[in-house]
Amino acid sequence: MSPISPDATAEHASTHHPHVADVDVCIIGAGPVGAALACRLARGGMRVAVVDKAALPPMEHPDLDGRAYAIAAGPKEFLESAGVWDLLPAASCPIEEILVTDGRPGEPASSLFLEFTREDASQPFGWMVEARALRVALNKCLSTTPGVTVLAPAEAKITRTAQNAHVQLHDGRSFNARLIVAADGRRSRLRSEAGIPLTRLPYGQTAIVCAIAHEFPHDNSALEHFLPAGPFAQLPMTGTDEHPYMSAIVWSDKDGIAERFAALPDEAFARQVERRMGNTRLGRVTPVGRRWTYPLSAQYAARYTDTRLMLVGDAAHGIHPIAGQGLNLGYRDVIHLSPLLLDIHAQGKDPGAPAVLARYQALCRPANMLMLAATDALDRLFSNNNPVLRLARDLGIAGVHRFPALRKAFVKHAMGL
Ligand SMILES: Cc1cc2nc3c(=O)[nH]c(=O)nc-3n(C[C@H](O)[C@H](O)[C@H](O)COP(=O)(O)OP(=O)(O)OC[C@H]3O[C@@H](n4cnc5c(N)ncnc54)[C@H](O)[C@@H]3O)c2cc1C
Repeated sequence: MSPISPDATAEHASTHHPHVADVDVCIIGAGPVGAALACRLARGGMRVAVVDKAALPPMEHPDLDGRAYAIAAGPKEFLESAGVWDLLPAASCPIEEILVTDGRPGEPASSLFLEFTREDASQPFGWMVEARALRVALNKCLSTTPGVTVLAPAEAKITRTAQNAHVQLHDGRSFNARLIVAADGRRSRLRSEAGIPLTRLPYGQTAIVCAIAHEFPHDNSALEHFLPAGPFAQLPMTGTDEHPYMSAIVWSDKDGIAERFAALPDEAFARQVERRMGNTRLGRVTPVGRRWTYPLSAQYAARYTDTRLMLVGDAAHGIHPIAGQGLNLGYRDVIHLSPLLLDIHAQGKDPGAPAVLARYQALCRPANMLMLAATDALDRLFSNNNPVLRLARDLGIAGVHRFPALRKAFVKHAMGL
């Protein structure tokens, strides 16, 4: 395949239907995982095409939409190496303390608790990044990284054989790729077209996600408060002129009930949030921006590969947001995949060869299944009102708190290091 010039790479789907050059890797889905992978591989010298059904304009900072990601240290390093992190238009907020408590709405948290502090790690546990800021940085990086061809909005029909993959766009253009990466999210069309079985574990819970302003500063501290109907998380965010003290919340409650809470008027919603904090350290709360609701389920693909195809991110696995690890798990896939593909490329070998596919699955799937099992067990242990389980988990929480080595081990794993 011949090298392509940077100018030829920023071809957005247009009325001219310019020719698209063949690539090493075609990524379907430019979500946070697919887009970052595209930039990382192109920076390493591979030719990459990215197809997304949504438009990906390098846009101005849109309004706060209330959603944010907790990005762990390992994924942050990956975003730096992909050239994305430095393009974030707003400062991220470091998470320097995490308080884990157990209780019931309207009651103070149990006196047995677990606290991760600055002493447990040499750097922050993670960074809170607004979803809109990450989107802006990803779109900008995609459009400015030489070697990335952005095809959006576009839909692709893929034909894969042992020799090659052929990508046919709905506007008539077509090109070849050595490898197809499915980064097309939970409902991955490529996964179902490949006939890869999917197992789904519904939780009967829906998450309410939004931003809140509060009376007192959060001091870069996060809270995970376990309640019988589901976990309630408060995650520190960078404030604005209008709201100097802000946090994101992810409040999981029973299906049907969560939607009713989410629809409450601001004042009543704020009081329900305060009832779920387990303490009063943030003072009075005011909701900011839109409220989102997501039905929660875990899911996993029976395998991550098929002929010249790899699944990454939510296309391969989805987990309960109890530990804020969903996106971090997707980044772990591409943290393993990028050096593997760049190494194969440097040796002039085929990135879609069966041995490469097998290596990727062996690197990622077992560890991802462990994380899925851990978050599933956590939710089942904590989301109930059984007094015996409550005592057991309180003792467990307090037990971990008393052993610094155990706390550090927990933290290292959650930080993706
Ligand atoms: C309530 C909630 C809170 C969460 N909080 C956190 C958190 O704090 N931290 C964290 O790490 N994770 C969190 N997550 C998980 C996180 O949102 C996901 O893991 C993450 O969005 C997955 O990224 P992705 O790139 O794999 O897929 P997606 O973000 O789903 O992106 C898929 C992309 O593919 C495109 N696409 C889909 N189909 C096609 C097609 N046929 N052709 C072309 N393009 C297509 C879409 O337009 C989209 O751009 C949370 C999830 C929920 C539900």
